[in-house]
Amino acid sequence: MQFAFPPAVAAAVPVAGSSTFFPVHRIYCVGRNYVEHAKEMGGTGREAPFFFMKPADAVLPILPDTVGEMHYPTHTAELHHEIEMVVAIGKGGRDIAAADAASHIFGYAVGIDMTRRDLQAAAKKQGRPWCTSKGFDESAPIGPIHRLAETGLIEGGAIFLNVNGVSRQNSTLDKLIWSVAETIETLSGFFELMPGDLIYTGTPAGVAAVERGDLLEAGIDGLGTLAMRMV
Ligand code: MN
Repeated sequence: MQFAFPPAVAAAVPVAGSSTFFPVHRIYCVGRNYVEHAKEMGGTGREAPFFFMKPADAVLPILPDTVGEMHYPTHTAELHHEIEMVVAIGKGGRDIAAADAASHIFGYAVGIDMTRRDLQAAAKKQGRPWCTSKGFDESAPIGPIHRLAETGLIEGGAIFLNVNGVSRQNSTLDKLIWSVAETIETLSGFFELMPGDLIYTGTPAGVAAVERGDLLEAGIDGLGTLAMRMV
């Protein structure tokens, strides 16, 4: 096949402890997957979580021991952070049973689902899609992907995000409403999962706005930390 022009190089995320990169196929995100966050967004904390997407090239990979930079996007006055554990899919499939989900996981990473909250609130009110509030450029900062073989299954542990040294989000992964296995089961019923898919698994309470110059530090037990400055 001859392309009319060279296709874009795949978006990619470094694999921890390796010189290889994880090529990103799609980015799926889970909404309202921690009770306290669902409540702060106006829900009861009991609704079934739901899914939305970001484009693959929305990833903003940040290496350990560096401070990444995210450009404060246009058209917002309320850019929010959402710390999330990211699950990287290594083996695809449809209708994957929760009991088999682990065999489809390549690894895990620390991620932030950056959100233009003001645009999202307006979209919700008008029944419009979330593309401009969730799927913009650099909206998916992510640390290196740690292989499942090295981390083992991650089903608990701390998840936190600080801004300028002050705690904003601090929870534990056992508070996920839908576990990673249940999320893979449900999501793979809607979409055929493929190697290279990333799943942002939802954020705990404490989402709030950042400004240019702010330093975000986010971490998850066993997956290290990620540092990023808004510019
Ligand atoms: Mn989110």
